[in-house]
Amino acid sequence: MYPALDDLLADWLVSYHPPVAELRVIDHRWSPRRHEIGDFLARNQVPYQWLDVEKSKEVNHLLEQLNLSHEKLPVVIFPDGSYLVNPTVLQIAEKIHLKTHADKPFYDLIIIGSGPAGLAAGVYGASEGLCTLLVEQEAPGGQAGTSSRIENYLGFPTGLSGGELARRAVTQAERFGAEIVTPQKAVRVKVEDQYRCVELSDGSELYCHVLLLACGVSYHRLEVPGIDALTGAGVYYGSSIAEAMSCSNEDVYVVGGGNSAGQAAIYFAKYALHVTMVVRDDSLAKDMSKYLVDRIEHTDNIEVKTCTRVVAVQGKHHLESITIVNDKTHEEKTLPATSLFIFIGTEPHTSWLKGVVEGDEKGFILTGPDLIHEGQPPKRWPLDREPFFLETSVPGIFAAGDVRHGSIKRVASSVGEGAMAVQFIHRYLG
Ligand SMILES: Cc1cc2nc3c(=O)[nH]c(=O)nc-3n(C[C@H](O)[C@H](O)[C@H](O)COP(=O)(O)OP(=O)(O)OC[C@H]3O[C@@H](n4cnc5c(N)ncnc54)[C@H](O)[C@@H]3O)c2cc1C
Repeated sequence: MYPALDDLLADWLVSYHPPVAELRVIDHRWSPRRHEIGDFLARNQVPYQWLDVEKSKEVNHLLEQLNLSHEKLPVVIFPDGSYLVNPTVLQIAEKIHLKTHADKPFYDLIIIGSGPAGLAAGVYGASEGLCTLLVEQEAPGGQAGTSSRIENYLGFPTGLSGGELARRAVTQAERFGAEIVTPQKAVRVKVEDQYRCVELSDGSELYCHVLLLACGVSYHRLEVPGIDALTGAGVYYGSSIAEAMSCSNEDVYVVGGGNSAGQAAIYFAKYALHVTMVVRDDSLAKDMSKYLVDRIEHTDNIEVKTCTRVVAVQGKHHLESITIVNDKTHEEKTLPATSLFIFIGTEPHTSWLKGVVEGDEKGFILTGPDLIHEGQPPKRWPLDREPFFLETSVPGIFAAGDVRHGSIKRVASSVGEGAMAVQFIHRYLG
């Protein structure tokens, strides 16, 4: 019974909020650093308590004890009583003993990104005897980790949160011996004979036989006046689950008409007074799964504004209003708003790979059959055989999941590609 009990306890622990969290973050609600730190802790499933400078009675007392002023925020106080002033997420990760550096200089397989594709490859690689390392710049789970509820992943009939999926996959990968370092960003790749070398953001270099690029995608930036200054201070990209509580009894705006926007609207509707979806198309049904469209239609406090775009945002220290335009009537309106969550289109995380592997015009990585033109492999391809399915234009560098040209952008297909990649990696090593 122990494995079953362990599993139940681990599930409970994720949703359990102790009356006094061990780790405390002191800052203003509208501070972009507070958002960054909160998001990092939440996505890495570290329980913390945010003390809002404007609302918490404890703050002044704590700052006085630490001999700090309100100008020195954010402050992060750790369970042992030590604290850091305006720390980077890497400093926090080191303090709470996340694994931030690799144990070895050389691995059979290094995987960049620990979303569903990377984690699946980690599980299969490590379970099949490959010395495996995953490098993650934010938190395991990737985009899926930001989802409030995934309802179409096989084997979970009532759905599961992205955080839960990530936690289970991390446990599984680590149980097989895979190492996961986070937060570390891969910034460069070098090919040295039969070895592949990855440089990380801390300057360290790691070598491997095979590299798997599972670095996924992130949301397009909304290019409208005023938005840069307010990002993190009322304007957020993706569904920041950690922000939902702060929006209780407020009006929330969600931009986008895809599944991720739909999930977010349903999730925020549990906390917010009213959720408005701003959708460019004339119907939600174009890009969204039917089950989500139905759910939105049956949620009283969600309103959908179709044929509508956000054209400007305004606010001094944080978001105060947005301007929207209806493309059919050309009517423009400025509405009070404090929270805007953006889910529009995606772009691949591949700018750091330019000149290394071939990509399509949007930057998605080309693999296998997509590299063959008129029966010929890419120009610099050095081998007699054609690239394996999921192999890039460089032998021994593979790609899987959303970052790959032509992939299906779903959790199940990314998991499938991560698992498949390991089979081709064995053939390459053979
Ligand atoms: C809010 C939301 C809800 C969704 N809901 C569903 C759903 O219900 N069902 C469904 O099937 N699909 C859903 N999707 C889509 C699904 O999550 C993605 O298709 C899937 O996560 C893709 O997995 P991936 O591993 O290829 O990439 P990602 O999930 O994008 O993971 C890539 C990882 O790589 C990391 N990374 C990138 N560059 C670097 C670098 N240079 N160094 C280190 N790390 C790096 C990123 O930080 C990220 O963690 C949803 C997506 C979102 C955003």
